[in-house]
Amino acid sequence: MKTIHLINRPEGTPSLNDFKFVEEEKPTPKEGELLLKTLYVSVDPYIRGRMRDTASYIAPLELNAPMESQLVAEVIESKNSNFFKGDFVTGMLKWKEFQTVPGTGVNKVDKNKAPLSAYLGVLGLTGVTAYLGLEKIGDLKEGETLLVSGADGAVGSIVGQIGKIKGCKVIGIAGSDEKINRIKTKFGFDGGINYKTTQNISNDIANSCPDGIDVYFDNVGGEILDAALANMNKFGRVINCGAISIYNESEIPMGPRVEGTLIKKSIRMQGFTVRDYVKDFGPAIKQIADWMQEGKITYSETIVEGFDNIPQAFLDLFEGKNHGKMVVKV
Ligand code: NDP
Repeated sequence: MKTIHLINRPEGTPSLNDFKFVEEEKPTPKEGELLLKTLYVSVDPYIRGRMRDTASYIAPLELNAPMESQLVAEVIESKNSNFFKGDFVTGMLKWKEFQTVPGTGVNKVDKNKAPLSAYLGVLGLTGVTAYLGLEKIGDLKEGETLLVSGADGAVGSIVGQIGKIKGCKVIGIAGSDEKINRIKTKFGFDGGINYKTTQNISNDIANSCPDGIDVYFDNVGGEILDAALANMNKFGRVINCGAISIYNESEIPMGPRVEGTLIKKSIRMQGFTVRDYVKDFGPAIKQIADWMQEGKITYSETIVEGFDNIPQAFLDLFEGKNHGKMVVKV
């Protein structure tokens, strides 16, 4: 059976050469263990940070060892009384076709309540990131203006819809006209800006948000963050959720020194790490699931087929090739 190892810590943009397919014996579960068959693999921008050997909120990936991310897997053999053959589970697992795990660190998911892949996105980490980022830091109020970057992505598309549920004006930033059209027609955004074709992102934000920005949900960092900061209202809130535009930089580029911007406008800018709120995941997922049932939230997935295509699907995130959650079906 196949497994995928990290074999280099890339400088700059990662490539297929940073991964290696390694053959291993299919494992046999010991007493108390489960044998899992991988069904769906989540590929996520934060994995880029784990390829560096630097301290972060999650440990670096080891070199010459299997990659890992959130997976959905099927229990095909159980020597643990809490799990049965045919159960489906999610957890932070290895990029292996089969693996054994102790009965801890995986959670059962119900195939009849939602498609299994949804537990990696809208009903998984990216859904709760959107919900809890807004809830814990955004302090979003009806009638306010919410700006979201990475707007057609897994987190951003849910953020925008929650903004609409809360009665806000929602503007999204994304990397193609097709994506801008989708966030308006599929997700109900009020407007959008294509950051790849704009002449002046700050002016475009000002034109799209004539009353200024009250909350900026930042998924990309860099120049787009700088431009958003220049357009914030007094007492605005900035949720620093991600910075994909600079994840591949060897040296973090210097932005404008927004002299006094935060002070003069009493802006609160706060980093957000979803793993700090694990105890809130259950209620967050319940609320998202309820909204889905009420038809207030929908979602997109880009499902790539085949275990061999996991590394390429990960690389494609940096090219914006996904709509919504990027998932690999094994
Ligand atoms: P997405 O589904 O949004 O996929 C990534 C998207 O980023 C691409 O589709 C692409 O869209 C956009 N992108 C790629 N390169 C650039 C660039 N140079 N400038 C601007 N946009 C770019 O990913 P997620 O929704 O999973 O994650 C969104 C962000 O949230 C990431 O930064 C991620 O690290 C972060 N995150 C943080 C968490 C936390 O706990 N803090 C938890 C989960 C995610 P486009 O075509 O628009 O360029």
